[in-house]
Amino acid sequence: MGPDELGLVQETFASNWIAPVGPQVDAFEQELAARAGTKSAAVLSSGTAALHLALRWLGVQQGEEVLCSTLTFSASANPILYERAVPVFVDSDERSWNMDPARLAEAIEDGMRRGKKPKAVILVHLYGQSADLDPIVATCAQHEIPLIEDAAEALGAVYFGREEAQKSQKKEDIPPSALSPQLSAISSSRPGVAPGSVGLCGIHSFNGNKIITTSSGGALVSNDAKLIEKAKFWATQARDPAPHYQHSEVGFNYRMSNVLAAIGRGQLRVLDQRVDARRANCAYYQKHLGDLRGLNFMPEAEYGRSTRWLTCVTIDPAISGTDREAVRLALADENIEARPVWKPMHLQPIFAGTRCYGGAVSERLFTDGLCLPSGSNLTETELERVVSVVRKAWKSRS
Ligand SMILES: *Cc1c(COP(=O)(O)O)cnc(C)c1O
Repeated sequence: MGPDELGLVQETFASNWIAPVGPQVDAFEQELAARAGTKSAAVLSSGTAALHLALRWLGVQQGEEVLCSTLTFSASANPILYERAVPVFVDSDERSWNMDPARLAEAIEDGMRRGKKPKAVILVHLYGQSADLDPIVATCAQHEIPLIEDAAEALGAVYFGREEAQKSQKKEDIPPSALSPQLSAISSSRPGVAPGSVGLCGIHSFNGNKIITTSSGGALVSNDAKLIEKAKFWATQARDPAPHYQHSEVGFNYRMSNVLAAIGRGQLRVLDQRVDARRANCAYYQKHLGDLRGLNFMPEAEYGRSTRWLTCVTIDPAISGTDREAVRLALADENIEARPVWKPMHLQPIFAGTRCYGGAVSERLFTDGLCLPSGSNLTETELERVVSVVRKAWKSRS
């Protein structure tokens, strides 16, 4: 928590607004929309709830297909099942670990050939990094397929606009000289946009593990005020405007508490500091592990600026002489938690038998990928400990 959250919660208690509506909710929605780059926002009980309402808005029906990134957390895809629709997965590309635009085009064209035009695309912005929006937006527009952006892990990231972001923040660890001159020129000349603000709508999460948190919570953001208004209606049990309780549609209990919204407002104020801290973790690891053979960091795509929500690496067993699992276990022995990169959805038992376009890239990232400890509050001593355990795995190889 930052310096402001407790004060805002105290304000909420003093006003006795302890409900899933109230002035903190309204204020958080406005402040979040400003930061998320959209006209409106609905703050909700979770990011998963936000995705569910986005699919409701599109009227996704039983048996219809919805495309989704395969390398992600299951919450990206579960709401497709809530509506008894059919998830179809799309592989990642190497340069961003996010959805491969070429695979997306292939998936859409093949779906149309099969007489199953996808009803929507759920695009995930993974580990704090924006997907390559331009070609994905163009492909969706060409086929008139709505784009839902899952930006649960990417609040604070930018697509383009790297230079602006650098100016507004104190520390900078990736010098622009690391980019080729042409790319650097493109990045600096084009204003940045927030992932989640480009498609029909986007979702954010304030779950405990995200870059900012309200303990649990999420949001649906969009430039379409009608969509947001309808989402709020469904999220508060779909109460028709009447003095008595009247309902003509299925409702949900998905609204965020006024108390949690107060926390969210305080957290938004420290978002930039959190981004700095996460990027500083990554820079530390790069500096102290960058020389290890066969260890590679998740690339930061040239078109944007990642928050480095998590610092992720891959360990190539053929080159390093060790492997992901050995390193993970060595860390676990020292009571340091590190987890494999997301297990792709097309490999999950719950999604067995579902179609996936490509898959080899995300499968390799899962086999070789490790998320290092990445909390915003890690101390240098803690980072040093992680580094020394990881380095030992290279030393002890046969
Ligand atoms: C956390 C997360 C979600 C779900 O958000 P909740 O608020 O926990 O429901 C969805 N997608 C991705 C990619 C996430 O990391």
